[in-house]
Amino acid sequence: MDEKKKEYFIKRILEERERILGGLNSLSEDYQGATDSKAAEFEETAWTERDKEYLSSLISQDIEEMAEVNEALKSIVDGTYGICVDCGQKIPEERLEVKPTAIRCVKCQEKYEMRRNAANSGGLGYRQSE
Ligand SMILES: [Zn+2]
Repeated sequence: MDEKKKEYFIKRILEERERILGGLNSLSEDYQGATDSKAAEFEETAWTERDKEYLSSLISQDIEEMAEVNEALKSIVDGTYGICVDCGQKIPEERLEVKPTAIRCVKCQEKYEMRRNAANSGGLGYRQSE
């Protein structure tokens, strides 16, 4: 990958990072706001378990995306950006265009997610319904 392309993707990754950080900030503001106002209006009703579960799923999603951003930035430092961490093949630029933080090719990503889902099922004891 030429330097110009790389610079472009670095910029995209950093933008992604800003977006995620912004999301986390507004989430924590929402959380603060909601706990304050609810506590004021109804003394006894705090956040329901459902609210907390929803919030924590949003946060863990952000954390996961943040981990991807960090991995991608690390691969740039290591000089392996654009190369699949699992099979060592080049990740097509069209894929990086859609997902600049991708560190795996589509095939390996699918396998990775399958492995991860298998590892997760049973761990938390519940499944998200779509
Ligand atoms: Zn691969």
